[in-house]
Amino acid sequence: MDMQTSFLDRLFEKGLLIDTGVDGLYGRSGQFEDVITAFERLIDRTGGIDGAEAIRFPPGINRAHFEKSGYMKSFPQLAGTVHSFCGCELDHINLLKCMDEGDDWTKEQKATDIVLTPAACYPLYPTIAKRGNLPKDGGLYDIQSYCFRHEPSKDPARQQLFRMREYVRMGTEKDVTDFRQTWMDRGVKMMETVGLDVEIDVANDPFFGRAGKMLANNQRDQNLKFELLIPVTSAANKTACMSFNYHQDAFGTKWGLNLDNGQVAHTACVGFGLERIALALFAKHGLDVQEWPATVRETLWG
Ligand code: AMP
Ligand code: ZN
Repeated sequence: MDMQTSFLDRLFEKGLLIDTGVDGLYGRSGQFEDVITAFERLIDRTGGIDGAEAIRFPPGINRAHFEKSGYMKSFPQLAGTVHSFCGCELDHINLLKCMDEGDDWTKEQKATDIVLTPAACYPLYPTIAKRGNLPKDGGLYDIQSYCFRHEPSKDPARQQLFRMREYVRMGTEKDVTDFRQTWMDRGVKMMETVGLDVEIDVANDPFFGRAGKMLANNQRDQNLKFELLIPVTSAANKTACMSFNYHQDAFGTKWGLNLDNGQVAHTACVGFGLERIALALFAKHGLDVQEWPATVRETLWG
């Protein structure tokens, strides 16, 4: 049995994660959630002084916004759309017959106006653009959402529905690159205060297909994405628990996000993978929170 499967089994046995029969779709125990809540308080204590505007979206995005985002061009393999039955009574009779016979009943489902949110910041850009030009100092937002990615796996750190907490900065190139550097420094410190070994490295998103390879290389060459890596199921293959993304003016141009002087805004986002951070803590300090080092408990629950 590999390390990932055995860690997943131990999490199930301990009841921290709850098996639903689908890889990457898990229930969470009260204890697991308490670790996430405590870590989010640490995020609040670290980022609170910056005065970000908090906004919470449900885990679905307007399909028109999703289409405009270009996500299907880059990551069609990860997207999840919400489909529903939209038929008449006769269609319903056929649907039930189809289900009774064990045939594929999903073919007649029709796309709704909702797509599952692929990254917590996606609904933010059109929302802020709709307000008009950014204020004088740009914008800073605090976001948290469940996100969906179709990547079933036995690795407990690769889930299909998981939470991302993000800070998003919109402003000049200097504003957003300074913001990203500040959070890279803060991220390393935060993880150290909870006893986790960290490393930051340049990274790329999993762009689809052959053309995607070029996009991924380009992203790396320009240092547009960094990840904070922590050993979870393997010391050799570390897990990305935070991401630091600089979009240059790509989102500003796409969504019409402008500074107060009318120039196109640059944007950057910093994302915490909340389940991954909780799993990193359980992997490092053990599955029994009462047994965690006193300094770690103090930082989280002090
Ligand atoms: P990304 O947009 O891919 O950079 O994701 C932002 C953060 O979400 C990553 O740094 C991870 O911590 C977390 N994340 C991404 N994909 C998954 C997944 N499949 N399961 C759990 N956490 C994830
Ligand atoms: Zn983001």
